[in-house]
Amino acid sequence: MIASQIWLITGSSSGFGRLVTEAVLESGGIVIATLRDPEALSDVASRYPSNKLSVVKLDVRNPDEIRDAFARAKELFGRIDVVFNNAGFSLLSEAESAPEDVARELFDANFWGAANVSREAVKFFREVNVPQGGRLLQASSAGGIEGYPALPYYCASKFALEGFTEGLASELRPEWNIKVTSIVLGSYHTNAGRNMKRPPPHPAYVDATTQHPTARLYLYTKSAAYPEDAAHLICKVAELQDPPLRLPLGQDAVEVLRRKGQSLLETAEEYQAWSENVPLISSEEYCLKLSQQAAKMKTS
Ligand code: NAP
Repeated sequence: MIASQIWLITGSSSGFGRLVTEAVLESGGIVIATLRDPEALSDVASRYPSNKLSVVKLDVRNPDEIRDAFARAKELFGRIDVVFNNAGFSLLSEAESAPEDVARELFDANFWGAANVSREAVKFFREVNVPQGGRLLQASSAGGIEGYPALPYYCASKFALEGFTEGLASELRPEWNIKVTSIVLGSYHTNAGRNMKRPPPHPAYVDATTQHPTARLYLYTKSAAYPEDAAHLICKVAELQDPPLRLPLGQDAVEVLRRKGQSLLETAEEYQAWSENVPLISSEEYCLKLSQQAAKMKTS
């Protein structure tokens, strides 16, 4: 089935973006590979004809470039079956030590870039594709489910994407045949570590004995999986008839979903009594009550 699919992928220069680009091409599919520096994919481009691989410049922080990339896809192929919203980077920094401009840049790429690509994707699937339909795959993270030390802004950007994705998916009419999946990635050996921004730590978080920022320790001690395995599973999810809203990839990601679900359940059960006797009132009744109170105050 991939053999007949047309994919648009963001952040194709390295990591998952590059691996999924290659996996789709190897399976006979077509890719519009988008990236900031088209030269970075010249080795792959030299192996495939232009009716199989189109390399398009796209910095996802630039909404005009996003629109241009989708317009180019329409002009070249007239259809996109799968959009893999992959571009992103991380910021290793305690909340107190993250420079605000870097944290905003992170949101511009990881959240706003992904949200703007999602909007164009849904519009394309609904208005350009005949028959209507398509798959939107978001590169989310275990850090979009749980918050981690030294990654609060990165986690916030992925939590934001999770909320956006869940809201967007709930808006889509079933007859549009658009399926959205948030891929909750665990830890994988890509260029993410090298591309991570690392401002100096806040002195308060540096351990006096080791001179090491303790909040960052857990990342250095983590092991990670081969990204090639995840790339093949990302292709597989695009073939499922009824894909899940959230797909954990990696044993650590599966464990994170389990742990989060369990902890939310425990909190709900522990504190449910606090809300048991709280009465509910409709918005209509509430407004009426407010206007009655206002009228009473005027007359008194
Ligand atoms: P990677 O090898 O560093 O790849 C990241 C890609 O995103 C690169 O192609 C990079 O392009 C691109 N990118 C960054 N900012 C961009 C922008 N403004 N516009 C367009 N492209 C941009 O890391 P990766 O692990 O494959 O990351 C891919 C996605 O997986 C990210 O969203 C990341 O958060 C997510 N993820 C990764 C892991 C992991 O363990 N590796 C875990 C959870 C989630 P340049 O070459 O131009 O910088």
